Amino acid sequence: MSLSITHLGTGSRGNSTLLESSEVKVLIDQGFSGAQLEKRLGILGISPQEIDCIVLSHHHGDHGGGARVAQNKWNIPVIANERTVQELNLDPMKTQYFESLDIVKVGSDLSLLAVPVPHAGADNVAFVVSHSGERAAIITDLGSWTDELVQHVRGCQHISVEANYDANQLMSGPYPYSLKERISGRGGHLSNDQTGEFLSMVCTEKTRSISLTHLSEKNNKPHLAESTVLFHIDEVFGGDINISSQDGPEITHFIGKDAPEKTQILAELNR
Ligand SMILES: [Zn+2]
Ligand SMILES: [Zn+2]
Repeated sequence: MSLSITHLGTGSRGNSTLLESSEVKVLIDQGFSGAQLEKRLGILGISPQEIDCIVLSHHHGDHGGGARVAQNKWNIPVIANERTVQELNLDPMKTQYFESLDIVKVGSDLSLLAVPVPHAGADNVAFVVSHSGERAAIITDLGSWTDELVQHVRGCQHISVEANYDANQLMSGPYPYSLKERISGRGGHLSNDQTGEFLSMVCTEKTRSISLTHLSEKNNKPHLAESTVLFHIDEVFGGDINISSQDGPEITHFIGKDAPEKTQILAELNR
């Protein structure tokens, strides 16, 4: 009994994460075109028709832009909060709602707790996924965190969290000042340092793996994200850490009873 967690890709050009248990296949977010989703799932030997449902964090195009396509093309049900459903004009016949701090049950062996996070212009949520006594957190697009989020994520066996930008690169980079302010503000995205600080509060001896996601292609570098975060969590975390790139899937993490100890590198297995 284990749950696998595979990022199909994360970043400003699209996000989607596959959760797969023995009973269900769920996507968190669907920010890809139909063709891209089909291709990325195909690498895992899965067709879109096999997806039981899509759960959305928020309506921004890189997270929800492909949800309606999935409803129309493959009849996949979508579960989201009211603002997200309205902004994406989802098909009411194939849509279910959740509210903040609801526990969304999918099948008999998976549940997702929706925890609100600050992200300007959207009702964004992080998900804490529970499966056979263990938990994984999928957190992205937040300018800061709340005590509530820390409390729910603390001690998760797997944590995926964005490390969007390197503060020096953002400030010295090409973006106009107003955009720099928006990205680095309370409702923007987390810098590598902020992600490190957050992780230092939520990692415990139970935490086995971390994925850093949604790296900016202009204002970050994988080695900067990883080294900055490790600087903050060196003393509390001894597990696997990796970067989820825009073009996945590459790596699978596991939680749950009988979960493999290690993350699996798909690139070696499947390509
Ligand atoms: Zn967003
Ligand atoms: Zn995003």
